[in-house]
Amino acid sequence: MSTALALEPVIGIEIHVQLATRTKMFCRCSLSFGDPPNTHTCPVCLAHPGVLPVVNAEAIRLGIVAALALGCEIAPRSVFHRKNYFYPDLPKAYQISQYDEPLGVDGHFSVLRPEGELEVGITRVHLEEDAAKLLHLSSGGRRAGAEQSVVDFNRGGTPLAEIVTEPDLRSAADAAEFLKQLRQTMRQLGVSDCNMEEGSMRADANVSVRPVGSTGLGTKTELKNMNSFRFLERGIEAEIARQTALVEAGERVVQETLHFDPSTAELHSLRSKEEAHDYRYFPEPDLVPVVPARGWVEEIRSSLGELPVDRRRRWMSELGISYEDAEVLSETTELGTYFEDVADRVDAQSAANWIRGELRSQLKDSGVAPWESKATPERLAELIQLVADDQIGSSAGQEVLSEVLASGLPPAEIVDERGLRQIQDADALGAIVDQILADNPKEAEQLRGGKQKLIGFFVGQVMKETKGSADPKKAQELIRERTD
Ligand code: ADP
Ligand code: ZN
Ligand code: MG
Repeated sequence: MSTALALEPVIGIEIHVQLATRTKMFCRCSLSFGDPPNTHTCPVCLAHPGVLPVVNAEAIRLGIVAALALGCEIAPRSVFHRKNYFYPDLPKAYQISQYDEPLGVDGHFSVLRPEGELEVGITRVHLEEDAAKLLHLSSGGRRAGAEQSVVDFNRGGTPLAEIVTEPDLRSAADAAEFLKQLRQTMRQLGVSDCNMEEGSMRADANVSVRPVGSTGLGTKTELKNMNSFRFLERGIEAEIARQTALVEAGERVVQETLHFDPSTAELHSLRSKEEAHDYRYFPEPDLVPVVPARGWVEEIRSSLGELPVDRRRRWMSELGISYEDAEVLSETTELGTYFEDVADRVDAQSAANWIRGELRSQLKDSGVAPWESKATPERLAELIQLVADDQIGSSAGQEVLSEVLASGLPPAEIVDERGLRQIQDADALGAIVDQILADNPKEAEQLRGGKQKLIGFFVGQVMKETKGSADPKKAQELIRERTD
């Protein structure tokens, strides 16, 4: 008889990001996406005999940026190796990569979650070159049943950083969130554009299950090349379910590499452990070790500025912004700075609400970003303050915002020009309230008798009488004073 074991998933991720350099890792060919095939090649990246690779210094710098942002130690000396395998996408029949002496080691990355932070260990960050792109052609345009395969060498030699995590993740959702926040960091630091559809960020997920409470690791499988957050999450979920069912049935998980097909939600085996490559790594004799000057590394470290994760955490703890607001407002560095410039001048939560709400919706179809719009942080803050002070109502606020976006004029000027200022003056408004109560004696009597919902009727009358320029809160206050 088998006892039901409570199982927990264990997940580690390997991520490749394409470094945002102008040229390739070891030659001067420019990087491109979507250009005609084989238009960015040279003897080096096509592996003609006798050529020598030269390292792209900017790729090293971006690798160091990535490693530092992930809290890694930068190795005083790291080494390029040849990783040997024979495949049509690899003209040298080896890939230049790093092996046992990578650029960065021993890092960590904090993932913010509504339920609290999760720290994920970063095992290593290393540099390598990408392989070329294989295209499988068939008359039907589909990969299955391809009649021929062709190679586009434009991608061959593209600089990559590979980031490897410790097996610290415990759910598919956390894995996806980790990847999102990692992408935000890499993008904002200019390491990579991390475009998953174009393949400039690719993630492999390693998945195993083990009994809750155990500290050992179960046999893992590897899910290859998931190209969206949703597929990553769904693929991991499917694999956790598959392994859980196996273990619960008393069977074993077999170590293998899998492909998740999002259209069918099925997992297909690509290769098993028996078919695993022996890459015969050895040091690349044509390249010297990377020995970055300490001063240079420190200079890079001090140029990083506040990391997106730290910024979001600070907004939540110091400005009282919600997890979700912080997530949305930190999407780009520019938006974050715009928000901070508004929040410096007015209540931070109001700033967040206006930017996420009215400003975003008014700009939606224009293609103009908030920080490029005529609603500068000063202007938006002035507007928010006018509403906060009940100088104008919220619908007048929307009208003023649209005029600010069109003309860039100061909100106060627009308010005066359009006569939008609410009547605050208790004497003026009080006289109107008195008149309306006198004009509607029956309703006034009922309100005095406790029929509270008539408040709305009277406020409506005041707004009508003042053509919408009364402060409805003030009007309500005055009506209550006179009918209590
Ligand atoms: P491999 O030898 O297959 O390359 P590594 O030990 O280098 O495996 O780890 C590769 C990735 O797999 C890392 O992200 C690591 O955290 C993760 N990993 C390793 N073992 C497990 C496991 N048992 N379950 C889940 N993930 C694992
Ligand atoms: Zn080249
Ligand atoms: Mg490994």
